[in-house]
Amino acid sequence: MRPLQMVDTKTQYLKIKEEVDRAVLNVLESSVFIGGPVVQGFAEHLATYHGVKHVIPCANGTDALQIAMMALGLGPGDEVITPSFTYIATVEAAAILGVKPVFVDVDEATFCIDPKMIEAAITPRTKAIIPVHLYGQAADMEPIMEIAQRHTLYVIEDNAQAIGNDYTFSDGTVKKTGTIGHVGTTSFYPSKNLGAYGDGGAMTTNDDILAEKLRMIAAHGQKQRYYHEIIGCNSRLDAVQAAILDIKLKHLNEYIDARRKAADFYDRGFAGQAAISVPYRAANNRHVFHQYTLTLHGVDRDALHQYLAEQKIPSMIYYPVPCHRQKMFDAFGGADYALPVTDKLTDKVISLPIHTELDEEQQQYIINAVLSFVNR
Ligand SMILES: *Cc1c(COP(=O)(O)O)cnc(C)c1O
Repeated sequence: MRPLQMVDTKTQYLKIKEEVDRAVLNVLESSVFIGGPVVQGFAEHLATYHGVKHVIPCANGTDALQIAMMALGLGPGDEVITPSFTYIATVEAAAILGVKPVFVDVDEATFCIDPKMIEAAITPRTKAIIPVHLYGQAADMEPIMEIAQRHTLYVIEDNAQAIGNDYTFSDGTVKKTGTIGHVGTTSFYPSKNLGAYGDGGAMTTNDDILAEKLRMIAAHGQKQRYYHEIIGCNSRLDAVQAAILDIKLKHLNEYIDARRKAADFYDRGFAGQAAISVPYRAANNRHVFHQYTLTLHGVDRDALHQYLAEQKIPSMIYYPVPCHRQKMFDAFGGADYALPVTDKLTDKVISLPIHTELDEEQQQYIINAVLSFVNR
């Protein structure tokens, strides 16, 4: 059996090595490292993939969130509604702008923000809702958009983990995650579903005015070089990464299918186990399985994590401390929040290896190890 890894970017690379190597060499030979046709081409292809008007590349997914909030004019005194059960970047990007994250609990099944809990958190200072499509599952965008419309709030979708997911509205309309709210943000961190070989990120929007603002802010607030109209930052996707991503984008659907197939295999392996809930798949979206995350019942999660490590099986706890309990949010009264579902999940979830190169022999070994621990 091949050694187990949480993600196997090496084997994935070897399958597209020739094409990637050639594309990277072409960039080196062109010596256009920043901006230029390769970055532009990738942005256009990614926009087509999403069925969205604008893709604005940037340096990483955290910047994408921060630039989105800057472009929407969010600042000190404003509040955004976000889940606490997410990667820190979602809320850190708000906090760094002096925007207060207001934490809302998640739905126990989907792991995403619970739309039923959002309205109670809205205050006169609320400016935006930031749903996170966690682990590859889409947050329930239809009620979220409806609440946002009723209260005139912006919606920023943190799509770092769910690129390529299709969300279906009750009228049958299908949209890619990241194109439903006012702006979507994503990350090309190497382990993400569309991963670069370094850092990268992007913002998606159908709004022409917002697109121009996002583009300006990512480029020192300028439209025309050396004429700085608004306060911005420096956040760029470089041409080498864009060249790699452009090749990987062609494989994204096939990568998603491979992840879904691996998830199906795990689901079958864990079927009928009372102590294990496999990831719920909401009917309104197509889970892209950035993570395959089990919820355990009456099992010592940390002991399982340790046991798997002893069997040379990596597993991860995403995330061991929810945002509202992070020290960095003490100033926002983080610990005062009552988020029972978030706290419960934090103690019960465990993510197993899932990636495009996982084979059934590896998966069966993982399944057997989990079951032998759970049923011992
Ligand atoms: C990865 C991730 C980010 C941040 O992306 P970086 O490219 O690492 O800055 C933001 N939000 C979520 C949910 C993520 O998983």
